[in-house]
Amino acid sequence: MQQLSCPRCSKEKVFEVPFFGKDERDKLVKLKIKSSILLVKELIQSFKLSHSTSKFIAAHINKTNGKCHRCNYSSLDGKNIICPKCKSLNFNWN
Ligand SMILES: [Zn+2]
Ligand SMILES: [Zn+2]
Repeated sequence: MQQLSCPRCSKEKVFEVPFFGKDERDKLVKLKIKSSILLVKELIQSFKLSHSTSKFIAAHINKTNGKCHRCNYSSLDGKNIICPKCKSLNFNWN
């Protein structure tokens, strides 16, 4: 588990995020592209995460590698990275 927060949403809210393997990350990104609701369900059911943690993860996964889920910044480099432009946390897993 790693403790993560998003400076853009709230620095005070810290979430316990598990380390996902490559296959798991691929699956979660595919779900995100399909439906955020299905993604939240999957995180709750398969990973036994709380609803709030699952929503936090689902909201911050980006669909396109390098591209911020929130703004138009597109040079994100790293797996869990804060966008330098809008300060949103990105799970840049694609
Ligand atoms: Zn955020
Ligand atoms: Zn951004």
